[in-house]
Amino acid sequence: MNELLSLRSMKATIDRLFLTGDVSNEELKALMDLRYNERLKEAAVARRKEHYGNAIYVRGLIEFSNHCRNNCFYCGIRAAQKGLRRYQLGQSDILNCCNEGYKLGLRTFVLQSGEDNEYSDETLCNIIYSIKSSHPDCAVTLSIGEKPRASYQAYFNAGAERYLLRHETASPGHYALLHPASMSLENRKRCLWDLKDIGYQVGSGFMVGSPFQTLDNLVSDLRFLQELQPDMIGIGPFIPARGTPFAHMPAGSLTRTLNLISMLRLMFQYSLIPSTTSLGSISPQGRLLGLEAGANVLMPNLSPASVRTLYSLYDHKASLGAESASGLDILKKEVSGIGYEVVVDRGDVKPQKEAN
Ligand code: SAM
Repeated sequence: MNELLSLRSMKATIDRLFLTGDVSNEELKALMDLRYNERLKEAAVARRKEHYGNAIYVRGLIEFSNHCRNNCFYCGIRAAQKGLRRYQLGQSDILNCCNEGYKLGLRTFVLQSGEDNEYSDETLCNIIYSIKSSHPDCAVTLSIGEKPRASYQAYFNAGAERYLLRHETASPGHYALLHPASMSLENRKRCLWDLKDIGYQVGSGFMVGSPFQTLDNLVSDLRFLQELQPDMIGIGPFIPARGTPFAHMPAGSLTRTLNLISMLRLMFQYSLIPSTTSLGSISPQGRLLGLEAGANVLMPNLSPASVRTLYSLYDHKASLGAESASGLDILKKEVSGIGYEVVVDRGDVKPQKEAN
């Protein structure tokens, strides 16, 4: 594909993506496949700078339970995973994490877990309400999977204002290869539309290089995001997890993930795009490379050190040093070393001045 487009037409494609926020499906595939992506990165960084300057937003990630009722074939905390010590943090543990994070300067807390129905809606609402009461200047983001609309509404009423739910893949056939028959893309999408309708700032996204993924699948992912117009877009490479059906599948490519981050920045100019933990786990420089490709959010881990390694979505998941909130100073130095600045701010999405 790459060879098919001359250097000159590739340059023209990037310029058009910069100017109009869209190009054809064939051109999108060619960009994903680029091996030398300097011009694409430069365009993405220029666009990010225009809207967000040098600011990098940080969110404290609290992985509060690794119990999960689902059996996604790729995930290391799936219900059928054997030999994994399961944990659940209580309300006071979670609040302590937030208090710790607040002292470090974090103003957004992301509560993530497997789909753990042992936390009732009432318990979750109490947790959200108590975080917002102690820290009214902070945003609470949830990432706890698929729920009925009434539950999403209850969390929103309790004070949660953002929700992260990756669609994982927008191609029904591919979705069925990654998930058991009990799960459906239809319900995943229903959740995303409900969340939007309720008024959440919504984040979605997908893994890059998940098993059986084709370039056409990735084009469908980008087209679905254009329909959804999420405020946040999280992507990261698939990384195999031992003990799962995909334990022996190859990991996703760093370069393709970086190309896609740049493309997302150009297609969704105002979106908040994290440089994810999985990017930092496949390469020691991954998180910084993500920022240099156009991402503008980092999510250091605020979970207690005693449980951090148990939230093992994939092998060799980074959780120490600059990945952890306690290493925030290291992170700030690394970020300023490449010319950006970690800001203490809720970091809400900027309103769009024009349709993109
Ligand atoms: N249960 C919630 C949900 O379904 O959205 C949140 C937790 S879920 C584990 C968070 C994300 O981890 C998923 O959306 C998936 O994209 C990512 N993930 C899971 N296994 C992974 C793997 N092996 N490699 C990379 N990312 C993975």
